[in-house]
Amino acid sequence: MSEAGRPRVVVLTGAGVSAESGLPTFRDDDGIWRRFDPRQVATADAMRRNRAQALAFFDEIRRASWAAEPNAAHRAIAELERRFDVDVVTQNIDELHERAGSSRVLHLHGRLHWARGSGPQPAFVRIDDRPIAPDERCAHGTLLRPDVVLFGEDVPLIDQAAGLMRAADRVLVVGTSLSVWPAAGLVLQARRAQQRVLVALDVDDEPPGYDFRRGRAGEVVPQIVAQWLG
Ligand code: NAD
Repeated sequence: MSEAGRPRVVVLTGAGVSAESGLPTFRDDDGIWRRFDPRQVATADAMRRNRAQALAFFDEIRRASWAAEPNAAHRAIAELERRFDVDVVTQNIDELHERAGSSRVLHLHGRLHWARGSGPQPAFVRIDDRPIAPDERCAHGTLLRPDVVLFGEDVPLIDQAAGLMRAADRVLVVGTSLSVWPAAGLVLQARRAQQRVLVALDVDDEPPGYDFRRGRAGEVVPQIVAQWLG
């Protein structure tokens, strides 16, 4: 329970929650994934050695994310705040949870609509949907880069997310294949939760103790939320 006496809910989301908003997961083989392999352009090494192409990849997904609208799953998750103390922990770099009305959103893998310098104490810049120029620098003089966690980089918010999972009374996991670590390990932290539900089209391994509801997030999540709101 939270200090206000409301049950604590953590909603852990991945790319699948935004798929019905028109933002493809990395596993789908349509759209920009034919021209870019995310694992080639979204690595720390690519950002240093292959900067123009890495920036072009993020410019393109930033434009798509800006144009997308929250779907029924994002909206239902925001509705949970009527009864519960809710934290959304998302692997997504889009802002669709915030735009649907969720008030506490922890972006484990960063934020697409922000940029930051590459130094140890970077300045942050709100960029909305605009591109980052290859020679653009932050106020501290280091090269600007997307404020996202690239493959091979640390996930600085992982301990904070694990603490939220450990304190949760209920957990709803949506649209993640549970194949990206360390985020995937978070599901195992929810030991005291009385209810644990996982919604996805498919997962690599079903985590123990979860009720797996196979289906589209936009259909299944509103049903679960309606049940939980009673
Ligand atoms: P992933 O494999 O974890 O996500 C795909 C999962 O979503 C699968 O389990 C799939 O079954 C499920 N899924 C797909 N469509 C769904 C739907 N309509 N309803 C319910 N579930 C659905 O993630 P990934 O695509 O391999 O990406 C890896 C990393 O990249 C993660 O950090 C991810 O969040 C990030 N990413 C973010 C965005 C975004 O910000 N919108 C988009 C692509 C990738």
